[in-house]
Amino acid sequence: MEWCVLLCAFLLLGFVPIQADVDQSTLAALQIHKNLNRSQEACSNFWNYACGNYSASDGAKYVDNFELVEDQYAQAMVEFMEGDLEFVDSDVQLNEGPALHWPEEDFHSLESNEWALETAKFRRHGLNAVFFDERVDVAYNDSLRSVVQLKMPAPSSSYSERRALQLLKLHHSGSEAEVSRLVEQLRQLEAKHRQEEPLVQSWTLADLEQKIPQINWQAYFHELLSGHLNGVLFEVSDVDYLRELGQLLGNTSRSTINLYLRLRLTVLLKQTGPARRCPKTCIHHMRALLPLGMNYLYNRYVYKNRNLVDNIQLLEIFDSLKGMFGKYLEANRLQLSPAQLSYVREKLSTMKLRVGNLPEETSPAFYDSHYESANFSDYHHLDNVLEALSLRTRLQHDVLRLPHSRLDLRRYYVNDDVVKARTSPFYENERNTITVPLIFLQFPLFDHRQHSIFQYSLMGGVLAHELSHAFEHEGILFDADGNESPVGLQIRDTKTFQNAIKCAAQTPAVSLKERLADLNGLQLAYDTFFGMDHNSQLYTYRPYAFESEFQAPQLFHLSYAQFFCGILPPVLGHDRDDVRVNVNVANLRQFSLDFKCSPPAVESPPVCEMWRPTASSTLVSA
Ligand SMILES: [Zn+2]
Repeated sequence: MEWCVLLCAFLLLGFVPIQADVDQSTLAALQIHKNLNRSQEACSNFWNYACGNYSASDGAKYVDNFELVEDQYAQAMVEFMEGDLEFVDSDVQLNEGPALHWPEEDFHSLESNEWALETAKFRRHGLNAVFFDERVDVAYNDSLRSVVQLKMPAPSSSYSERRALQLLKLHHSGSEAEVSRLVEQLRQLEAKHRQEEPLVQSWTLADLEQKIPQINWQAYFHELLSGHLNGVLFEVSDVDYLRELGQLLGNTSRSTINLYLRLRLTVLLKQTGPARRCPKTCIHHMRALLPLGMNYLYNRYVYKNRNLVDNIQLLEIFDSLKGMFGKYLEANRLQLSPAQLSYVREKLSTMKLRVGNLPEETSPAFYDSHYESANFSDYHHLDNVLEALSLRTRLQHDVLRLPHSRLDLRRYYVNDDVVKARTSPFYENERNTITVPLIFLQFPLFDHRQHSIFQYSLMGGVLAHELSHAFEHEGILFDADGNESPVGLQIRDTKTFQNAIKCAAQTPAVSLKERLADLNGLQLAYDTFFGMDHNSQLYTYRPYAFESEFQAPQLFHLSYAQFFCGILPPVLGHDRDDVRVNVNVANLRQFSLDFKCSPPAVESPPVCEMWRPTASSTLVSA
């Protein structure tokens, strides 16, 4: 009898981790089944079929899976932070701080109309793109050299403009007419000079002062960079706009300019501030404004146990995707020249994956000093928001003080002017790097215990989308080191590349680059998991233990679609999620085979493929 007990114990021990694996996979399959709407046709509207019941399932609490993982993140961070407090003083009164009363004396200390200096003082508090857009980026031809970019404000800032005017009406300041006139004049000036692809000039400060003398650049940058102007390089667009802007503001009264800047700063604070005053929204607010601190805390105290294994799995998926894209390149569908091919190969092989937006540098000294210059108070909420915005601007500009303005890659992390922190993975052309925010690494989006079919379809699909950004019409311009290259331009101009773009644009898209990344991404993820030229008509699948109804390719598509499940939001930057899913699967030639769709009555347009090799004869005849 004893051997049996021993054997059972052995088997049980051996099965424990497998049991856990199955559980997570069962959970994922269960979620997929809950979201299904069987009254819909998988073949004609796949999003409706895969996600149609989302709002009726457990997910109803959330708009989509993003909101779900964001809520889990916030919950964990609130618990961590409150658990760490020795006492919570319930008598502490949070002060709203001064709403429209910015340190006015500070801004009024000048005798003459020095609008550039006034603008710089507000810029130091994080306000940008009121009269012109000024930001620190890297040089177009040297991705390690930090430069200051100057251009006219993007059209998107017109929203802040309108809100500023609304605020002005509410406050009856008596200066409505002057401010409204200024805003109107700025709009006209922008409309007059707006160009699709404006010329970019690379200038020193002396060049800048000489070419655009209408603006007091010395005053502006002296204020913003505390005098560290030596060797700073500028990339300037919209030169004529800037010249006329200087004239216009030179003739505008100081009080009008000051009032308008204060209004815009108020709008910025409202935009960046938490929507509601509660611990969870505050977590998200801090995640956007203080990414390093929040990522560090989350990584160290909440995420820590998953770190190693997630890392290994993500790199495995990433390497397989790269391997498959390498096979695409062997087939050379676009008929690139050997030099062009090696350009693409180099970019592919050096592309990096970062799990978490955190720098390589881990020394306590770095973390202890990074936020040292900020002066947060215990009581004044608005003051603290302002302080955080100032800190972010300061840290962005600090790079210019490094020797030759060279980026210190060991300390590099993404710290840009987002209002809402990123949840989804993203690709940076200049770094040739995909970053997966730690917040994304949570069920139902990813779990290391899940079967690889869930991982390769959802996370694999997302990583393949990001990888494809490196090779769409904008990404292809950047070489392996993140510098703009003439070889990239050559590739973009080839007839085969242009034809692939035309095909993808046949169905109208909100953003062509997103469409290209979507189509190429799904094809790449599918091929990576099933192999090139997979044909589900030729194989019968033994169902998985956790899934009895759907065969592997069907489950793959359903799991892929989970990323897009949710209550359809208004469109921002991407096509709406249902359009994305339906267009994407329509351009994967295997999809209709996988779901045994009957051939369409009318001849459907050919699928759009860019890098993927053309179908082999077996699939064409199928
Ligand atoms: Zn994208």
